[in-house]
Amino acid sequence: MKQDVIELDGAIGGGQVLRSALSLSMVTGQTFRIERIRARRSRPGLLRQHLTAVMAAAQVCGAKIQGAELGSQTLIFEPGPIRGGDYRFAIGTAGSCTLVLQTVLPALLLAPQASRVRISGGTHNPLAPPSDFLSRSWLPLLRRMGAEVELTLLRHGFVPAGGGEIDVRVQPSKLSALHLCERGLPLSQQAFALTAGLAPNVGIRELDRVVRRLNMASTELNAVILDPACGPGNVLLLEYAFEHVTEVFSAFGQASLRSEKMADAAINQAADWLQSGAAVAEHLADQLLLPMVLAGGGSFTTPRMTEHLHSNISVIERFVPITIQCEEEGAERLRVEVRAREQ
Ligand code: ATP
Repeated sequence: MKQDVIELDGAIGGGQVLRSALSLSMVTGQTFRIERIRARRSRPGLLRQHLTAVMAAAQVCGAKIQGAELGSQTLIFEPGPIRGGDYRFAIGTAGSCTLVLQTVLPALLLAPQASRVRISGGTHNPLAPPSDFLSRSWLPLLRRMGAEVELTLLRHGFVPAGGGEIDVRVQPSKLSALHLCERGLPLSQQAFALTAGLAPNVGIRELDRVVRRLNMASTELNAVILDPACGPGNVLLLEYAFEHVTEVFSAFGQASLRSEKMADAAINQAADWLQSGAAVAEHLADQLLLPMVLAGGGSFTTPRMTEHLHSNISVIERFVPITIQCEEEGAERLRVEVRAREQ
């Protein structure tokens, strides 16, 4: 008997609502229909990055799709069986490679065969996880849950030119629950100012600002000059390794933005998390939910509820019999627990 189609309202969030629905549809085999995709964004509907995620998901599970066009605000996705293999996805703009990877990775972990996925586009985009965040923060936690995944950054790609590429190898893996309520002891901290095709003092000014506002020594600062052919581009990464978690905060250079102001954007995020005492910051929080759902359980603490966390929980609860409980444990500490629903 054919299952009911899951109906979703895309206007409860942004592209993540769609990407999470694609991931969950692939792993549960349930068809969904989404309307008002990114309806509250200034350019609503499917942009290149979202369309590439839809096409990538469809390819990995041989899905039947309707509405997969640029600008479309409605999509029907009927998944088939997941297949591992060798995949190449080209976004064709500077749209985020990492968001496309996160869409298909849950399915590839459950595939009967190993996979190799190469994705070209942007690797360091504002409002998306930089590839460094995946390789140093998110993937190590997935590996701790049992995922066998290796990511190599082949070429940096910045907005607006794109042209970056990641290469990812995935082995079929069984995930187990992760409980991440404390960071543990601090191990190391580092700042990286990456510039491509820009004046060298751009990165230096950002690092000066880091020293002025955060407790970092000159040995913890790294000015990295990339091949100018990847440019123009500039990102500041602040990496904090603790016993149980590594966090990576980022901010992106723009022509109209002073280096100090740009650096402040990353510094403010880091300072907010450091003083909160919660185990994971905002971005890691919403990105840990799907792996924990695959694992059938897990928990973490994070400073507060966000739009992404909230909308992701709503989408997940439509696809799987899982309860996600959020409980405040003080002013700057929200405990999120994922567990199988009692039948
Ligand atoms: P839209 O344009 O509709 O907002 P989008 O497809 O670009 O959509 P979102 O729905 O906003 O994306 O989702 C962005 C994802 O990227 C979220 O999981 C968010 O936590 C993550 N993210 C954003 N900025 C960072 C960052 N600096 N570091 C790590 N992750 C990030």
